[in-house]
Amino acid sequence: MSHKDDCLFCKIIQGKIPSQKVFENESVFIFKDIQPQASTHLLVIPKIHIESLAQLSASELSILTGMYAAALTVAETLQFKDLGFRTVINTGEQGGQTVFHLHMHILTGTQLSGKFN
Ligand code: 5GP
Ligand code: ZN
Repeated sequence: MSHKDDCLFCKIIQGKIPSQKVFENESVFIFKDIQPQASTHLLVIPKIHIESLAQLSASELSILTGMYAAALTVAETLQFKDLGFRTVINTGEQGGQTVFHLHMHILTGTQLSGKFN
């Protein structure tokens, strides 16, 4: 898997920086956000280093399918699939992205209020 040496999330995937892992398969890693914005706040990341959604090429779109599939597996395992949850991908500076390794947030566990910002 291609990692980027100075990328925080690549280091988390490799175990060089500790994280609270909740799921892992051959292409996706899911762990708890360090600064949770809901009672359950997870980050879904591809194991391959891609900066952002904007950097994803047409041939790489299946990476998103893998991320959503893993998210649904975890939603079932952690039993929030039926209660409801929110998935968010912040992209680029104006999108509020702060870590430049593609990631999807999963927020759940409490009633979410604000819709989009
Ligand atoms: P973004 O702002 O790019 O959409 O999301 C980045 C997320 O990564 C933030 O919610 C932030 O709390 C989380 N984060 C930043 N550094 C770490 C870390 O070292 N460990 C974990 N688990 N999450 C982190
Ligand atoms: Zn990375």
